[in-house]
Amino acid sequence: MNLGTYRKILTKYWGFNSFRPLQEDIIKSVVSGKDTLGLMPTGGGKSLTFQVPALASEGICLVITPLIALMKEQVNRLNSMEIKSIAIHSGMSAEEIEIALENCIYGDYKFLYVSPERIATSMFQYKVAKLNLSLVAIDEAHCISQWGYDFRPSYLKIAKLRDHISPKVPFLALTATATPHVIEDIMNKLSFKEHNVLRTSFERKNISYLVRNVEEKGTYLVKTLFKAKGSGIVYVRSRKRCREVAEMLVKEGISADYYHAGLPDDIRDKKQAAWTAGDTRVIVSTNAFGMGIDKAEVRFVIHWDIPDSIENYFQESGRVGRDGKPAFAVMLFSQSDKSRLTESMRKKFPPIEKIKDVYEALCNYLMVPEGSGKDNVFDFNLYDFVAKYRFPAIETFNSLQFLQREGYMEFTEEINNPSRVHFIVSRDDLYKFQVANESFDSFIKLLLRSYTGMFSEFVPVSEDVLSRKTGISRDTIYKYLVKLSSYNIIKYIPGKKSALVIFNEERLMRKALFISPENYLEVKEKYDARLKKMIEYAESENRCRSVTLLDYFGEESDRCGICDVCRKRNELDLSKYEFDLILEEVKKVLSSRKVDAEELIKLTGYPEDKAVKVIRWLLDHDKIRNDEEMKLFWQS
Ligand code: ADP
Ligand code: MG
Repeated sequence: MNLGTYRKILTKYWGFNSFRPLQEDIIKSVVSGKDTLGLMPTGGGKSLTFQVPALASEGICLVITPLIALMKEQVNRLNSMEIKSIAIHSGMSAEEIEIALENCIYGDYKFLYVSPERIATSMFQYKVAKLNLSLVAIDEAHCISQWGYDFRPSYLKIAKLRDHISPKVPFLALTATATPHVIEDIMNKLSFKEHNVLRTSFERKNISYLVRNVEEKGTYLVKTLFKAKGSGIVYVRSRKRCREVAEMLVKEGISADYYHAGLPDDIRDKKQAAWTAGDTRVIVSTNAFGMGIDKAEVRFVIHWDIPDSIENYFQESGRVGRDGKPAFAVMLFSQSDKSRLTESMRKKFPPIEKIKDVYEALCNYLMVPEGSGKDNVFDFNLYDFVAKYRFPAIETFNSLQFLQREGYMEFTEEINNPSRVHFIVSRDDLYKFQVANESFDSFIKLLLRSYTGMFSEFVPVSEDVLSRKTGISRDTIYKYLVKLSSYNIIKYIPGKKSALVIFNEERLMRKALFISPENYLEVKEKYDARLKKMIEYAESENRCRSVTLLDYFGEESDRCGICDVCRKRNELDLSKYEFDLILEEVKKVLSSRKVDAEELIKLTGYPEDKAVKVIRWLLDHDKIRNDEEMKLFWQS
């Protein structure tokens, strides 16, 4: 197949004219049957690298991805383009999962998205062997690395899939965060047949990375936001701080709102939409904000608190300037942050006995007796759990992380599942039922008119929509559904919103619960090392920020010339004499009229590189400014 085919698919389904750097190389590598690791920064366009080749091939593409909300979004998007796709995750009943898999085997589905904890189940392994697979895509592949910052034990079971599928099916692993160590780990743990890494540079030439040492962060933020143009994100660590900072900004007359995972879905969606549309200028958020945001013109990302790894920082700050225009990534750092980080370290690593306490309490809370519980899925509300046992929330959360790391259980984010209905009788039998039970007739007709496909699979339904359509109360609709279900006409799964915990093992006696001390120690050391690198970044005054970040990901680069460190150096690269001469010239030009930067450089009559430095310095020090049309004027 030639490359034109892929471009045609790109245009036909997505309406894009050309591939981004590396997308084509990854596609070529995959279709030639090679296991491939693709590294691209967030927003680089990784999804297309498995979607396009899958559309060009026979069979179905299996996509493994840990975030259920994003999974659903992608499946919806594909289906809306009339590409048949389906998702399987722990929020679904065993029966639903089985039907979905059957449909994949016998239907003409192109994509099967699955969350990692499902792939180890025997049902999945049995069914996957029957699929005509074209490709296995593993998104967020860094989750496989035990020493990475986001380990998921079930990722380790992905390689086992190879025992059940044709050896010809290539694996495509994708990630945005890969230190050299993690890259090796990914290829090993996925049993790559050969070493094959394709990467784009992670360099973001249009981002100015700045670190500001400030104790009075509020004052600094307000001042900066008055000066800055366009819209952006302020990241803070806690939900409480989110709200406080947003309120402070609003009080100062800055258009701002806050966002965190504790808010109801509809409110979050509204806030995100308002920000995306530009109605809210600044969104103050925890790291919950960002997944699935797709806004190109973000001018600044400001970190009020320092993240605990460069991976996180790079990912979050990377949301600025996707449009390629100048943008700022600012980190506020104070000495008191350092002591706070040490404190959070303590909470991050609870003593092993505490972890065991949490394990026992959790099993009791979920009513799992010793020796059972394997593969069971439970709804789980952390806040309810900690309240009931009077545990401290953060320490408990981190204890659970350890239990996950050891592979005993796995947690999902909160999943919002709509109600689902599946008719389990044939059309003929349903007709007989309608004739015999007239009171249900119009309700059944309503269902059949409103939704399709209910005879072959579970279909999402909305009690609210049905209620609005008919004027019948929601409660009555619900009762109809429950009744039909008790007559074995339909299977009805009421919708709910919940996080889940999945037990990978049966409940163990406390004595038998093993938290490996070596593991514990190593995790702690790795965490410590990551944090240290982050602090080094913040404290350094003489290494280019961009060089530091890229070096962390194993990439060599030249200094960027636009971070705070480089800018300071730029000043020094000019003699005082030259600097003053150019400054006089700039002043002269700007005292008579406004001009844009390019013209100003020409008018000064000095070498461009030198004039640029002076102009940048003047901008940085508020001597000159840009107006709406990006024309420069003299400030004072
Ligand atoms: P990643 O997974 O690497 O973070 P995504 O796959 O979510 O990135 O893609 C990010 C955005 O880039 C999406 O809006 C996508 O539609 C867009 N995109 C991807 N490839 C192209 C392309 N070749 N041309 C234009 N836009 C693209
Ligand atoms: Mg992605």
